[in-house]
Amino acid sequence: MSDPAESPATGDDRSPPSAQRAIDVRTPLIGIESVGPVVQLQFARLGLHSVGDLLKHIPIRYEVEAAEGGTTEVTHAAAATDQPITRSVRGEIQKVRHIPGRRPRIEAVLADENGTVRLVWFNTPWLARRIHPGVRGIAKGRAKLRGGYLEMTNPQWTALLDGEDCPQRAGRLRPIYSASEELSTVRIEGVIARVLTGALAGVHDLVREEVLVRRGLVKLADAYKMIHAPNDVLDAERGRVRLAFDELLALQLAMEMRRWQVRHTMRAPQLPMSGAIEARILGRIPFTLTCDQLRVCHEIANDLAQATPMNRLLQGDVGSGKTAVAVYALLNAVAHGAQAVMLAPTEILAEQHLEVISTMLDTSRVRVCGLRGGMRVADRSVVLQGLASGGFDIAVGTHALLGPDVGFKNLALAVIDEQHRFGVEQRAILRTKGPHSAQVPHTLVMTATPIPRTLALSLFGDLDISSLRGRLPGRTAPTTRVVETSQSHEVYAWLRTRVEQGEQAFVVVPAIDEGARGLKDVASHATSLAAGALRGCRIGQIHGRMTARESDEVIKAFRAGTLDVLVATVVVEVGVDIPNATVMVIEHAEQFGLAQLHQLRGRVGRGGKAGTCILVGDATTEIARARLDAIASSTDGFEIAELDLALRGPGEFFGSRQSGLPPLRVADLSRDLQLLHDAHAEAQAWIGSTGDLTDPRDHLLRKKVLALYGAALGLSDIG
Ligand code: ADP
Ligand code: MG
Repeated sequence: MSDPAESPATGDDRSPPSAQRAIDVRTPLIGIESVGPVVQLQFARLGLHSVGDLLKHIPIRYEVEAAEGGTTEVTHAAAATDQPITRSVRGEIQKVRHIPGRRPRIEAVLADENGTVRLVWFNTPWLARRIHPGVRGIAKGRAKLRGGYLEMTNPQWTALLDGEDCPQRAGRLRPIYSASEELSTVRIEGVIARVLTGALAGVHDLVREEVLVRRGLVKLADAYKMIHAPNDVLDAERGRVRLAFDELLALQLAMEMRRWQVRHTMRAPQLPMSGAIEARILGRIPFTLTCDQLRVCHEIANDLAQATPMNRLLQGDVGSGKTAVAVYALLNAVAHGAQAVMLAPTEILAEQHLEVISTMLDTSRVRVCGLRGGMRVADRSVVLQGLASGGFDIAVGTHALLGPDVGFKNLALAVIDEQHRFGVEQRAILRTKGPHSAQVPHTLVMTATPIPRTLALSLFGDLDISSLRGRLPGRTAPTTRVVETSQSHEVYAWLRTRVEQGEQAFVVVPAIDEGARGLKDVASHATSLAAGALRGCRIGQIHGRMTARESDEVIKAFRAGTLDVLVATVVVEVGVDIPNATVMVIEHAEQFGLAQLHQLRGRVGRGGKAGTCILVGDATTEIARARLDAIASSTDGFEIAELDLALRGPGEFFGSRQSGLPPLRVADLSRDLQLLHDAHAEAQAWIGSTGDLTDPRDHLLRKKVLALYGAALGLSDIG
């Protein structure tokens, strides 16, 4: 793997040159030529302690080194053309003048053995401290003759310390490292160059040779060399690709290990579906399931019949009918005399699910309870007792259901709605709530934010995935229009006509409080609408900082039709179902993520009438424009997720897992897609043949995967 510190040390057969001590990846930096206690501390502050750390400190980019020349030579070259020429000149600063004024400038004279060049910097006060007579360095920039005198304007300045060699690399690539004020990239480069050859002798591959050959990858030691001292850009890229592969392979091995461990070490109650049970369940659902829904139900039923715990992600657009699928699974557990829970990310949603499920089970013997944060002590203890004794079959609630005092008689299934609010940790807690320590509940995680295929593999590779892609009968996607802020009064005039026809509207703003970066906030916007464009309409407000009871009342009033317009933050993004709401206006639309906008607009047009979504926003950049256009022209959440990934990169999605997965340092999922697939295939084959990486040859690799991902993925060291 890409961790030289994990590699076995060099054998003793390689005796070091007499004057120098042998270097390997564990060698501390102190004592390396030119690294004294002060410099060592400077390295330590960048998190670099050993030679191995230096190897892993890979350049953030490369610069093509301009041809370096003496002042005489550069003067001749400049005289031969009218155009400025890019060159580097190294020498010593002789004189410095600071010229104040509206455009303050620094003028310095740099001298080498043969002549001088004038350096001029405009508006660069920070350089003032660094440019003094006697300082040595390299000036790189566009050189030209001015009045017969060689001059460079705003050159790049690299100071050279006494005795520091900075190799000339004319026409070559110079690695640029993440550095600090006190420790420049050039100095880091110098130290790395000094230890590189020695250090590489101790770097061994943890990836088997056959894999490297199959994937056309270079050896790890070669990769480090190509990265730190590349001959050309292709070299640097080949080195990077190798490290990226190792990183992705570790991630995929971790996912596959997780899968393997779940399958081989965990047991879950078997809940086989029969024709009779299914008929009873379908009879409870007040509509006919679509083919799509049935297909997904059967995928789930198949999992539930196994003795290994289900670990499945169900993704489907807003309004694709995931709840009915959840009910199908919950009732199957109950049919086997077991308990099931449904977790929602907010109180509002939990209430809504509770109501839907209770209504479906109205006349049945299934006993359903709700558990919420702010319950009265007496009510809460009734629920807790019922869950512990088996008096309740189904519990619906928020994360309150994960509390340490909540125990179950025989919990067989947990459905977690809107995955992005629940991470791996929550699932780990759920696992402890099974009937006894040897049995864990099945889990079904549902999300309305489809995860692009690439990311599904890298972030949720330990889950099986089901997708609901079809639209429910009679549903049309809301029409979406993009409107500039200057037209917003027309938007509200139109909204008013819809309200007058008895329809309801959401107005979404980005801020709760006034003054947040000049964005509209709930209270002020509601007040200004009430006094202006929407005078006479009944306007409510809702945001995430209200208590559960307050927001509950607002939602109830809106549902009952005693409010016409609800000014809200993104709290309405998740799941809120108001059939009569047909219009959504989103202010500052450019502030929201594409997937989020898509989620939001899914809140309208859920009844019989078609919905309309108006995005009010001023796109100031090309990308912002492209994003708003994309959301207006596509209604497919899966397509939008892919677009969001392409336009914004995977950062968002990574954050959203909330699992503490360490970030990728080298690999970049927007360009290393194929590499990810390669790593996935290798990891699958690898775990398939060695089980849990238990082959002694994989000992170091296993240690490394566990160190990186063990905690985040709940991998246990059972090998
Ligand atoms: P989501 O996937 O966003 O959770 P829901 O499960 O809330 O979607 O379903 C949206 C609406 O569609 C609900 O009112 C639900 O009752 C209804 N619904 C779901 N499946 C069907 C179906 N097969 N036929 C008719 N209506 C359905
Ligand atoms: Mg839902």
